[in-house]
Amino acid sequence: MVAEVFFSDLRARSEAENKVTRLRRLFSEAGFPQLIRERDLTAVKLHFGERGMDTFVSPVLVRAVVDRIREAGGRPFLTDTATLYSGSRSNAVDHLTTAVLHGFDYSVAGAPVIIADGLRSTHVVEVPVQGRHFSRVLVAGDIAAADSMIVISHYKGHNLTGFGGALKNLAMGCAPAAGKREMHAAKAMAAEAECQGCGTCIAVCPSGALSLTAGTMAVDRDRCIGCGECMTVCPDGTLEFDWEVDLPPFIERMMEYALGAFQGKKGRIGFYNLLLSVTPDCDCVPWSDAPIVPDIGILASTDPVAIDAASLDLVNSGIGLPRTLLRHGHDRGGDKFRGIWPHTDGEQQLRYAEHLGMGSRTYRLVRLEGGKG
Ligand code: SF4
Ligand code: SF4
Repeated sequence: MVAEVFFSDLRARSEAENKVTRLRRLFSEAGFPQLIRERDLTAVKLHFGERGMDTFVSPVLVRAVVDRIREAGGRPFLTDTATLYSGSRSNAVDHLTTAVLHGFDYSVAGAPVIIADGLRSTHVVEVPVQGRHFSRVLVAGDIAAADSMIVISHYKGHNLTGFGGALKNLAMGCAPAAGKREMHAAKAMAAEAECQGCGTCIAVCPSGALSLTAGTMAVDRDRCIGCGECMTVCPDGTLEFDWEVDLPPFIERMMEYALGAFQGKKGRIGFYNLLLSVTPDCDCVPWSDAPIVPDIGILASTDPVAIDAASLDLVNSGIGLPRTLLRHGHDRGGDKFRGIWPHTDGEQQLRYAEHLGMGSRTYRLVRLEGGKG
């Protein structure tokens, strides 16, 4: 099956061609009005961004989607779930505070924020799935309860999954903390590489699994929850998973969780990927490193596999930027995310999600007519 993915680039020579109007047009072109019924409670699944990073999807752009949902008859609410690690979004109070500090206030975004898994991430429903790893997954209660959903993702790199887009937003993004723990079943280990003893990893580890003695880093593998935070921050590559053993089943578990959030909303769910500020890291880190490619555009589709496949192709088809974390793959066609995280295989997300019946890796890119789309 060939899925349609609608694409708008960023060329703009008039007020009809700014990002807000492009999001509004994509909403129609991708058929999103047909996903929403009169008086639907429509979830707008976002990532509000960890405090300290600033390349999350702007609430000004989210407002364009909120307005279109309302015009289609829905009652939109903005939503996300608690993180597994400590930080600025690990409970609903901190999460709502972070959302407001990042501009996701009713006065800007035009819709209320509801943290979908509740105050302490216990508002959860079990959803049956047929996967290799799970016969049921945990989905945040208010995402499961929503009638329809528009998933808006900042497309970027990730140190474990290669890239993060629509599929990861469904998987990690719609799961409560307990579900995130089930997906992250790998364990960190200290490699041979030298440790300079900066202590950064110890500060970010949510489970107190790391200790430094006389310049030697040790991991308590019983405590480690496999979140990967230590690997993201370590300047020396001292901490790692057993990539070949741990990563493939991790991706599969993630995609089974994505299926759990997706399958109850088939025909009622749409996806935007924003290829703006394509940073090396996900929005869970408290910084925004330099983007690895120039801004590309905005995609919309009802197929989460196709939109992520098209996003990956668009990123790889361009030229990588100098003075970034990109070490390889700068040329057109070069694998940009492996150029940062060589152990990752982002395409595995696409292969396994397609195997699970979530969509198609075969797509047709439909460029917006008019303007420069
Ligand atoms: S992956 Fe690293 S940061 Fe995460 S729990 Fe394990 S040791 Fe701690
Ligand atoms: S972040 Fe890396 S270099 Fe710093 S203490 Fe941890 S393992 Fe050592």
